[in-house]
Amino acid sequence: MSERTRIVKRVFILGMDGAGNWNEEASTPNMDRIIKQAGVMTQHAQTELPTISAECWGAMLHGVTPDRHGVNNDIAAATPFPQDSPYPSFFRVAREADAAMKLASFTAWAPINFGLVEDGLDIYKASASDAELTRLATQYLRDIDDIDIFYFAIDLPDAAGHRYGYSTAEHVQSIGAADEMFGQVLDAIEAREWLDDSLILFVTDHGGGGAVATGHGSGHPMDQTIFWGCAGPGVNRSARLEGLTFKDTAAVVAAALGLPIPAAWDARLPEDLFMREAIV
Ligand SMILES: [Zn+2]
Repeated sequence: MSERTRIVKRVFILGMDGAGNWNEEASTPNMDRIIKQAGVMTQHAQTELPTISAECWGAMLHGVTPDRHGVNNDIAAATPFPQDSPYPSFFRVAREADAAMKLASFTAWAPINFGLVEDGLDIYKASASDAELTRLATQYLRDIDDIDIFYFAIDLPDAAGHRYGYSTAEHVQSIGAADEMFGQVLDAIEAREWLDDSLILFVTDHGGGGAVATGHGSGHPMDQTIFWGCAGPGVNRSARLEGLTFKDTAAVVAAALGLPIPAAWDARLPEDLFMREAIV
């Protein structure tokens, strides 16, 4: 395998469940500030089918469509992800490339950590309610020496969508509240002076309200269209990100850290995301 160039020292994936692309209607000063400094954001990315959390977070972590990784919400809640799967998560790719990498996964929805992020790879895992998870994550970022991959996923917008309907005022407001939690994590990253040499990703796994006002899972554009943002050194701020799908996030994480992109992955690095000089 040829030596690959590492573009950044760290990757932070900040995720919120069920936000679709309504961040544009919401007040999200924290995401906006980071994107404005050094990033690019699209409102037209597509998530995977079916547009359900385990299927879609699984696609993001394992770089393949849900039919390949085979995990749904029930399986994620009951069965650890096989450590010998032909579709490794980006955490496993990182661990197999470098035993010293520091890896952490903070998820409000426990089945992500239980059934999608592999065990046995020395990945620091925590699951708790959104507010407690934010507290634990910021504490962790204050205390650790350094980090390579940090994944943080909160629930709030999906809970609001199921309760009030997706794209309602309450749902849009919940995206703003999720952004406030992102802000606390971003403040912790900034306090360590890690912003300038890290890649920050802002993601959501699906929208909702397409086929059913308070549900999701269909291929309706309201369910399937998602925002996707990325900021950091080497990012092409005028990238168009045409055809970006949620699973491609795995390839972005791998490329940013100079890790191999497994041949078995469907994930592809958006060709205009990084400046050419950053990846040669
Ligand atoms: Zn949901």
